[in-house]
Amino acid sequence: MKFAITSKGNPASNALTQKVRTYLQDFEMIYDESNPDIVISIGGDGTLLYAFHRYSSRLDKTAFVGVHTGHLGFYADWVPSEIEKLVIAIAKTPYQVVEYPLLEVVIRYRNGGKEMRYLALNESTVKGLVGTLVMDVEIRGDHFERFRGDGLCVSTPSGSTAYNKALGGAIIHPSLPSIQLAEMASINNRVFRTVGSPLILPEHHTLVLKPVNSFDFHVTLDHLTVMHRDVKSIQFKVAKEKVRFARFRPFPFWKRVHDSFISDGR
Ligand code: NAP
Ligand code: MN
Repeated sequence: MKFAITSKGNPASNALTQKVRTYLQDFEMIYDESNPDIVISIGGDGTLLYAFHRYSSRLDKTAFVGVHTGHLGFYADWVPSEIEKLVIAIAKTPYQVVEYPLLEVVIRYRNGGKEMRYLALNESTVKGLVGTLVMDVEIRGDHFERFRGDGLCVSTPSGSTAYNKALGGAIIHPSLPSIQLAEMASINNRVFRTVGSPLILPEHHTLVLKPVNSFDFHVTLDHLTVMHRDVKSIQFKVAKEKVRFARFRPFPFWKRVHDSFISDGR
C-alpha cells in the first residue's frame, strides 16, 4: 500500500511526519506523494483542507486521516501519543472508510469564458471586491431573494462547524448529504429584505447566485481565495464526489462537537 504525509510545516508536525514515515516504511508500505492510497495529515484541520485540495483529483482512490499537533480538530482527531497504534492500524489493512459529502461550485462567465468547477470540503464564500455584495439568489431555478450584505457562505455538513457556525448556521451531521446557505450581515429594512435564517438544501437542489450590478467577486474554497471577474452566475450543489476518511476507532461526530466546543474533559 502507498502512503503520503502532509505536514503543517511547524517543527512538531515535521518531527512527527519523519517518525510516521519511518514506521510505515518499516511495515513495507511505500511512500508515494503522487498516487497515495492513504494520506496522513499532520497538523490541524487547515492541514487536512490543504491535503484534500492537493489530492482532490483522486478522491475515489484516496483515504484521509488527520493527526493534530495542536488542539483537537474536526478532521484531525488523532493525538501524537496514539501514533504507534495508528501506524499499526494503517499497516494492517483493510480499514473501514467513512464518506462525507462535498460541495460543488460551478462559476460561469459573461464573456463566454470556459466555466470552472471546484470542490470544497468546508465551504465556499462569495464577497464583493468593494462595498456591499448584491446577488439574486435562486433555488431550483426560482428567484428566492435579492441579497445585499457582506457576503454569502455555502457549507458542507462537515464544514458546518467552521465559518458557517460563526455566522449562526446550524451544525449538520455529515450523514446528511446537504448544503447550507448562511448570510453575512444582510441589510434588512423596509426596502431590502432577505430571509435572515440559514437555509439547508438537500441533494440535487441547486442554489444559484446571479450578480445584479457588479460582476467581480472574491470566491473562497476552504482556505483558498480567488478573484473572479465578469461572473454570470455561481452555482452550488451537493457534489457527486465524496471525501473518504480512514476510520480506525469510533469517534462520533457529536462527541467531536462536544469535545471541541463544550469541554474536552470527557
Ligand atoms: P484558519 O484561520 O487557521 O482557520 C480558522 C479555524 O477554523 C482554525 O481554528 C481551524 O482549525 C478551524 N477549522 C477548519 N475547519 C474546521 C471545521 N470543519 N470545523 C471546525 N473548525 C474548523 O485557516 P485554515 O486552517 O486554513 O482553515 C480555513 C477555514 O477557516 C475555512 O474553511 C473557514 O471555515 C474557516 N474560517 C472561519 C472564519 C470564522 O470563523 N469567522 C473566518 C474565515 C475562515 P485548525 O486550527 O486546526 O486549522
Ligand atoms: Mn489553521
